[in-house]
Amino acid sequence: MEMNRLAFDFVIVGCGLAGTAAALELCQWGDVAVVSKEPVTGCNSYWAQGGIAAAVDHGDSVELHVADTLNAGHGLCHPAVVADVAGAAPDRVRWLERLGVSFDVDGKTGRLSLGLEGAHSRRRILHAGGDASGKNVMLSLHARLGDELNIVHLNHHAVNSLLVDANGRVAGVLATDANSGEELWIRARRGTVLATGGAGQLYARTTNPPGSTGDGIALAHSVGATVRNLEFVQFHPTALDADCNPRFLISEAVRGAGAHLVYRDGRRLMAFHPMQDLAPRDVIARTIYESLQRGEPVYLDARKVDDFQARFPTIFNGCLARGYNPERDLLPVAPAAHFMMGGVEATLAGETCVPGLYAVGEVSSTGLHGANRLASNSLLECLVMAHQLSLVLQDTEEMPLEAPDSLQPVTRFTTPPPELLSQVQDVMWTCAGIVRDGAQLQHGLSNLLALQDRYPHAAAVYTALLVVQSALLREESRGAHYRSDFPKTESALDCVDTRLQQPCTYATVPTH
Ligand SMILES: Cc1cc2nc3c(=O)[nH]c(=O)nc-3n(C[C@H](O)[C@H](O)[C@H](O)COP(=O)(O)OP(=O)(O)OC[C@H]3O[C@@H](n4cnc5c(N)ncnc54)[C@H](O)[C@@H]3O)c2cc1C
Repeated sequence: MEMNRLAFDFVIVGCGLAGTAAALELCQWGDVAVVSKEPVTGCNSYWAQGGIAAAVDHGDSVELHVADTLNAGHGLCHPAVVADVAGAAPDRVRWLERLGVSFDVDGKTGRLSLGLEGAHSRRRILHAGGDASGKNVMLSLHARLGDELNIVHLNHHAVNSLLVDANGRVAGVLATDANSGEELWIRARRGTVLATGGAGQLYARTTNPPGSTGDGIALAHSVGATVRNLEFVQFHPTALDADCNPRFLISEAVRGAGAHLVYRDGRRLMAFHPMQDLAPRDVIARTIYESLQRGEPVYLDARKVDDFQARFPTIFNGCLARGYNPERDLLPVAPAAHFMMGGVEATLAGETCVPGLYAVGEVSSTGLHGANRLASNSLLECLVMAHQLSLVLQDTEEMPLEAPDSLQPVTRFTTPPPELLSQVQDVMWTCAGIVRDGAQLQHGLSNLLALQDRYPHAAAVYTALLVVQSALLREESRGAHYRSDFPKTESALDCVDTRLQQPCTYATVPTH
């Protein structure tokens, strides 16, 4: 079968905030293809409720933002990266404003209205349309994307392989059109950018949309990129415990506005912690998890939050649709996989160790999040990385192509059938969840290897195996990675990253 072939200067996989911001920056320097398997409504970015962290208030500073990020990251953040991201935040906020995003302002003072979230020492979360911030930011940017003549958006195309040239450089992708089943060979003359988001859908309970299956991690690792700190999966403490996957998120901003976690009899769950309901996410998630294990359900009591419906319309309507009125009812909550702190090792400009391959946004691991992400730092990271990427790629030369067939797909991954994905999700939730131990992780590893025997090319199994292997390697508890067989944090492992890289053998599979 003759395959459709296209070529662009830059090929970006993913249309969330990282991919879209990168496209809007890179289109100044060349033509861009954005390839995505889900439309914008299926991106984590669109679902973001809390907002974007930036030290823009007069009582705040970049130094405080840095200090809070380092504290949340439990000795694993890379301080220089944290300083760069926090320092660039106000400028990235202005960039969004220039592109038409309007951030919420206080009706009385006319100043930016800033929210408070867990482990932030100051109010510094900017919202755009209250708890519909992700949606409003993404709709503004996608309107610009549609206007740019230099950008083509290929939606409903799943990338299942990276194209590699004879020198081991990544120079494009192979994508499958979900409607026709046709394969598309898309060459990237100057850079291939993974912006594929997170991997929450590897877990039976997650807040992430269905497309978040960690494909970018498998794609990058399969061509020799290093993946880092994949054991650090953030479990959000307060997903509504009332429906199937994905679970409906109740943002930390609700606790920032005065809601409390309580037991059925009204006792406060977090009374023991100095930061109470705004303690770090891993601490709250584990406390809820242990309570549920004892058979004691946990609730969010938001009944005393002023103007709940007006302040949190998305959350109000989402709860109502699931049978709960936050102004009247206690909301049953449970933790769910939410954010992948680890990912493809990359600089803030997205550079990986594989020539031609870049990774931006949640799929990457830059050193910003350490062992635990500070709330609302991830949308910020997408924006900063997209900008830095564009600075690096603006002067890149075209990679010469010796012959059309000199580009070959490496591993050809397949989208998992639903029954396979649900098996992976169950294994991961049971064996590599909120509390892990060596025996459970080994059990999970064997189960996943058995699944890999049956489905050798499933990206979800490939990525899940990397997560479990990373969790086995880290024999301590730190941030979001809690091992009941190694409950202490080992100071000897401060600043020590877990890195996995396969021997770089380009086992290429011929195109048809
Ligand atoms: C409910 C919820 C609320 C959140 N709230 C906040 C918040 O308030 N503040 C904050 O900072 N962070 C928040 N986060 C986290 C934040 O939304 C994400 O970290 C961020 O949006 C990631 O952006 P991204 O562009 O990297 O990925 P995404 O926005 O997830 O986009 C990934 C893109 O890659 C595409 N893709 C994936 N695999 C393939 C493939 N094989 N082929 C083609 N395309 C592919 C997807 O279709 C999608 O277009 C929240 C997350 C969730 C789930």
